[in-house]
Amino acid sequence: MSRGKRIGLVAHDGRKPDLTEWVKINEDKLAVHQLYATGTTGKLLMRKCPSLQITCLKSGPLGGDQQLGALIAEGKLDVLIFFIDPMTSQPHDVDVKALTRLSTVYNIVLAMTRSTADFVIGSPLFADPDWAPIRTDYQTYVLRPQLDDAADGSR
Ligand code: PGA
Repeated sequence: MSRGKRIGLVAHDGRKPDLTEWVKINEDKLAVHQLYATGTTGKLLMRKCPSLQITCLKSGPLGGDQQLGALIAEGKLDVLIFFIDPMTSQPHDVDVKALTRLSTVYNIVLAMTRSTADFVIGSPLFADPDWAPIRTDYQTYVLRPQLDDAADGSR
């Protein structure tokens, strides 16, 4: 049996009503997957959608975005639904940037608009337990020669 996809849910304060509505509409489809959320987003979603089991991380500005980033780096997140507020500056903007960057590095599914989220959840691939992203091979980067030079003191 499929364990489902591992999905992160985050919304900035100005977008929380939007994400809550989107999750409510898609509650049945989401219920069979493993859900993670930053603290405040997760608490709100569980209140509005009691059928969902959501692992709540820390609040975004207190490290929750970074916790999601760590899950991505460890290959433990498949999809990130991240509704950012483009009209409000965020105190944790660097964390937001890091999270979207890691999503790109590991080629996970990243939806930052509600329209994209609709496309993602409506895709046949979303329901396909065998679908997995193509991973970029970073071995050339990891094994780049500068590291050997630094280790033997020749730099
Ligand atoms: P929050 O964090 O769910 O704790 O509000 C979201 C964010 O990263 O801004």
